[in-house]
Amino acid sequence: MTAAPSAVTASSPASAQQVVPGMREVLSAHARIEQLVVRTPATSYAELDAATGARVVVKHENLQHTGAFKVRGALNLLLSMTPAERERGVVVYSTGNHAQAQAYAARHTGAPATIVMPAGPTPPNPLKERAVRALGARLELAGQSLTEAAGHAAHLAARDGARLVSAADEPLLVAGVATCYLELLQQAPGLDAIVVPVGGGSGAAAACVVAAAIAPHVEVIGVQSDAAPAAHDSWRSGELVERPAATRAEGLATGTGFSLTQSVLRDHLTDFLLVSDDEISAAQHRYLTAARTVAEGAGAAALAAVVRYPERFAGRRVGVLCTGGNASDAELRRAFEER
Ligand SMILES: *Cc1c(COP(=O)(O)O)cnc(C)c1O
Repeated sequence: MTAAPSAVTASSPASAQQVVPGMREVLSAHARIEQLVVRTPATSYAELDAATGARVVVKHENLQHTGAFKVRGALNLLLSMTPAERERGVVVYSTGNHAQAQAYAARHTGAPATIVMPAGPTPPNPLKERAVRALGARLELAGQSLTEAAGHAAHLAARDGARLVSAADEPLLVAGVATCYLELLQQAPGLDAIVVPVGGGSGAAAACVVAAAIAPHVEVIGVQSDAAPAAHDSWRSGELVERPAATRAEGLATGTGFSLTQSVLRDHLTDFLLVSDDEISAAQHRYLTAARTVAEGAGAAALAAVVRYPERFAGRRVGVLCTGGNASDAELRRAFEER
């Protein structure tokens, strides 16, 4: 594997509790959640191979409970809390899937969950809003950005003594999510690379932890939208940077690099690629037509990268994470119309 840029100084180094999880934590997570999550299929499609020139294996986390991989981390975290901690509950800020995952795991464990979604500039994906309410979580709309929503969430957590759950800087989330990559490496032995869409970086960090431990020859490659490149630019520059988060793909719309996940990516990520939002829409369309599967924008970003960079992937066996399926009506309409 090629190394990430060296001479790194994080502007806010990981705190003492933010110990990078290793295989011990991943295997504990696996034992804790195995019976509670879907062992999602890892499937090949001739049309996707033809379109990319690669041998593609799609890991279908769009078929996971709540429609995204994040529930793995959420269940691991809630099940690791003490009963007293669980009684005080969790507070999260999120544009969607992190919220749904925490709401799902909170309901499963009987803990109260409060979800803060940004009220603007665009209103939340109605699908995700409905799902969170249906799971019995308390939903508050606050602020005009994820950062403002985060401020409100921190206030609520401090007031109620609840656990504020970060979207990425949480070792228990990374360990839980890593079970997805453990499955993939069992389901598709012989992969040359795994391509992972990145928002906060928990998925890519999880892939790095597992690959480094049990399949060190497998490259882990991150993907972001060029309209929200904070994690990409943080990895390239070796510092936690802030960038506009203007992408339509909610799961990728983070404005800053996260310290825990970036520290893992620096050590293990092979490469980090950018795709455009239109390329993501085209990949959603490809999933719908070639694989008959619904991917939300973030869920289609990894496939978009394999299509866009044939020089990197053609002729290779590539694990492509289809991370989520919670596409709004408007998003699906765009996937069909804009071509
Ligand atoms: C959260 C999310 C991502 C990004 O994952 P991170 O762990 O935040 O990098 C990608 N795809 C979907 C569907 C997501 O919900």
